[in-house]
Amino acid sequence: MIKQKGLLFILSGPSGVGKGTVRKEIFARKPDLKYSISMTTRERRKGEREGIDYYYKTREEFETLIKQNKLLEYAEYVNNYYGTPREFVEKQLTDGYDVFLEIEVQGALQVKKNFPEGVFIFLLPPSLEELKNRIMHRGTESLELVRNRLNEAKNEINMMDAYDYVVVNDDVRHAASKVQSIIQSEHLKRERV
Ligand code: 5GP
Repeated sequence: MIKQKGLLFILSGPSGVGKGTVRKEIFARKPDLKYSISMTTRERRKGEREGIDYYYKTREEFETLIKQNKLLEYAEYVNNYYGTPREFVEKQLTDGYDVFLEIEVQGALQVKKNFPEGVFIFLLPPSLEELKNRIMHRGTESLELVRNRLNEAKNEINMMDAYDYVVVNDDVRHAASKVQSIIQSEHLKRERV
């Protein structure tokens, strides 16, 4: 039997919308999906683990990976690099597994260029007011930074039309269920063909 190539799902959306929380809720339900662990140059936060949350790299190491074309996409976000390892994603897809990326908008648009057949899901906040609250409640940001983040988020929301699906993150469990329905329906769609 020839194994069907896996599907690539990309969850993206503006800063502060809760992509990470929705992704964790989806994976807590043990879906039949491989999560692509990103590379980053940002400092490891308390409780995070190498090879589980991220692969932590120095700027030099990351720039070498860029030069060697080892990243499917990468972006600079708040003065740190973030990127998706190409080899992992391509191997899983070839082996017939679905792969799930949770990345910011610039990176998602790069993936779209290389993998137009990917399924692009945009996570939207219920309102800009709510997004502002969420960014502010992270607590670590100055007012100036909150304002910058919010402007950035507005620009990112304008990219929403490039995506296949939009999911409003009004409630984490709700949003996770909607993403899971999208995954299921994309499979059914392809089985029909
Ligand atoms: P954090 O530092 O809070 O873990 O992540 C910051 C942002 O980077 C989030 O929006 C997250 O989705 C995004 N991100 C995480 N991994 C990647 C990646 O591999 N590529 C890109 N472009 N963004 C990523």
